[in-house]
Amino acid sequence: MSDREGIYQAVIKETKAAGATLVAVSKQRSQDQIMELYNWGQRDFGENRDAELVEKYHALPKDIRWHFIGHLQRNKVKNIAPFVTLIHAVDSLRLLREIDKQAKAFDRTIPTLLQFHIAEEESKYGLDLQGAKELLQAVKKEPLSHARIAGVMGMATYTDNDEQIAGEFVSLSDAFGLLQRQVFFDDEHFKEISMGMSGDYPIALEHGSTLVRVGSLLFN
Ligand SMILES: *Cc1c(COP(=O)(O)O)cnc(C)c1O
Repeated sequence: MSDREGIYQAVIKETKAAGATLVAVSKQRSQDQIMELYNWGQRDFGENRDAELVEKYHALPKDIRWHFIGHLQRNKVKNIAPFVTLIHAVDSLRLLREIDKQAKAFDRTIPTLLQFHIAEEESKYGLDLQGAKELLQAVKKEPLSHARIAGVMGMATYTDNDEQIAGEFVSLSDAFGLLQRQVFFDDEHFKEISMGMSGDYPIALEHGSTLVRVGSLLFN
């Protein structure tokens, strides 16, 4: 077994032991690099550019589950709507409505996650709890038909302070729990917490992550 396969097997084992799913973040990686992981059994891959994702989707095996993990512009939704498995980073009602519209056009249901801003770093992206509640109130008034809200997503601060990272992940799982109790109590589809990357995925798994998005650790 190569060193890289050893790392992959350790990460997948740790992820599965926690009951979570490993999304291998393959942005800017070649098709050959993706196929190497595919041949070790990996099926969930994450990309953050629509054109790159579409190209890889057409070239690579059709049983790959493609996750869109980055900021998605509304005018790009139609490009990935025919095949995307999960859109991780929805932070506006307008984007959610567009996903709903395009999912309908392609006669699919597209699961999405609400992105929360949990890091101390300034960011243009991500909701706070109040913003999420407002979005969900608007959705209640005018329900979605083909987009589905399947959980939450967040990114911790880029720091080596593990306690801070843990605190930020706890704030995301608390937000998930609160929304589950107050809004989604009768919706079995609201079940995902997407958190954890190469540097912090073990902390995320300790705090209830169901989807870890790991890139550089697997591909470098
Ligand atoms: C790039 C990226 C990742 C993976 O980051 P690594 O540190 O390489 O594991 C995870 N999530 C998002 C949103 C990303 O853009």
